[in-house]
Amino acid sequence: MEKKIAQVVVVGSFMSDVVTYVDRLPNAGETITGNQLVLCCGGKGANQCVSAARLGARTSMIGKLGKDSFGDEHLQTMTAEGVDTTHITVTDEALTGVGQLTVLPNGQNRVITVSGANAYLTVNDISTARTTISTAKVLLCEIQVEKDTAIAALQTANDLGVLTILNAAPACPNLDPAFFMLSDIFCVNETEAEVTTGIQVRSLDEAAAAAKCLLEKGCKNHVLITLGAQGALLLSRGDAEKPVHIKAPAVSAIDTTGAGDCFLGALAFFLATRPELVLHKAIEYACIVASVSVQRNGTQPSFPHWNELPNELF
Ligand code: ATP
Repeated sequence: MEKKIAQVVVVGSFMSDVVTYVDRLPNAGETITGNQLVLCCGGKGANQCVSAARLGARTSMIGKLGKDSFGDEHLQTMTAEGVDTTHITVTDEALTGVGQLTVLPNGQNRVITVSGANAYLTVNDISTARTTISTAKVLLCEIQVEKDTAIAALQTANDLGVLTILNAAPACPNLDPAFFMLSDIFCVNETEAEVTTGIQVRSLDEAAAAAKCLLEKGCKNHVLITLGAQGALLLSRGDAEKPVHIKAPAVSAIDTTGAGDCFLGALAFFLATRPELVLHKAIEYACIVASVSVQRNGTQPSFPHWNELPNELF
C-alpha cells in the first residue's frame, strides 16, 4: 500500500465537545453543580475523516487548530487514526473550535458552538495542499469552515479532476451558487434540504421534490438527501431524473449523533477505493456502515472499523 497517496481528502472543521450533564439549567447569576463532564473530539470534518480512515482509506485532513490542549488532542487523535496530518495547521489567532453542550436528564440539550480556529482555515491553506488534493480520488468538504475556503477546495478538486462531495451542513438558507456547481455529489439531511430549498421534507415524495429543486439550483451531477432510519434518496441529472430510494438496514438505534458524518466518510471511502461500484451501491454500503454507528453511543467512538463489517463491502 503506497502510504503517501491520499485517496480521500477531507476539508473541514475540528470541534472539541465539552458536554455537561445537569439536573436543571442555572438561572442568571446562579452557579449549580453538574453531574458529569465529558470531553470529546468532534467537528464534522474531523468526524468524516475518522470514518473514512477506519474503513481503510488513506486519508488526509485539511483543517485548522488553536495552540491549546484541545488542538493537541485533535492532532493526537488524527495521528492515532492513521490520518495524514501534513495539512492540519495551527493558528495563534483563535482557540480550537468548541461545542459546549448542556444535557438535561430527559436528554434535551442546549448547544453553543464557537468556530474559533476553524475560521482561520484560508484559501492559502488549500493552495498549499494542492499536490495532496491532486493525488486524491475524492475530496469531501463541509461548510463549518469559511465559504471562500470551501469553494476554493471544491474548485481546486474540480480543476484537478478529483470527485467532489459537498456536505452542505450546517444548514444554510442562502448557499452561494458555486457550492451547487462545484459538487459532483451534493449531500444534505432532511433539515438541511428543507432550509436550503424551503420545501418541507417529511416523506419520500417531499424529499424527491427537494432534490429536484436542488438539481434546478444547479447541482452538477447528483443530489443525495439522507433520511435517518429511512436511508437516503438519490437524484441524478439525466437518467430521466428519477429518484432512487436506498433503504437503511432496520436496526435498533440507541444514539444517532454523528450518523451523517459516519455515512459521508464511508461514502467517500467506497467511491475512492471501489470505483467499479455504481453510486447507489456505494450509498447502500455507506448506509450499512452508518447503521452500525447508530447502535453504539458517542460520535467518533461509534464509527466502525473495517474488520467489524461484512466482507462483501470490501
Ligand atoms: P446526525 O446529524 O445525527 O449526525 P444526519 O441528520 O446528518 O445525522 P441522518 O440522515 O440522520 O443524518 O443519518 C445518516 C445516515 O445514517 C442515514 O442515511 C442512514 O443510512 C443512517 N441512519 C441514521 N439513523 C438510522 C437509524 N435509526 N437506523 C438505521 N440507519 C440510520
